[in-house]
Amino acid sequence: MSRPARPHVFMRPLWRCRACGADWPCQPARLALLVEYRDDRTALLVYLGMLMHEAGDQLAQLNGHTRPPGLTDRFLTWARARGQDPGDPSE
Ligand SMILES: [Zn+2]
Repeated sequence: MSRPARPHVFMRPLWRCRACGADWPCQPARLALLVEYRDDRTALLVYLGMLMHEAGDQLAQLNGHTRPPGLTDRFLTWARARGQDPGDPSE
């Protein structure tokens, strides 16, 4: 069992995870991003915002020029939360 772990990175233009096939960012990808950007959440949000814009354009082209719903939740909302606790009652 020496197969190297495949990174959870996106594939254009479908924006699915190369490793697990889920809509990107999948859960492992989100965790990896939160770790990578743990000291700079603003940079993470800027990066995800750029990807969301690009994904929206590309997915719309594949989808009869209709942007898929829920892109903000998919790309940004989870990263905006303070820490990794989705149940923060102050929000
Ligand atoms: Zn994945």
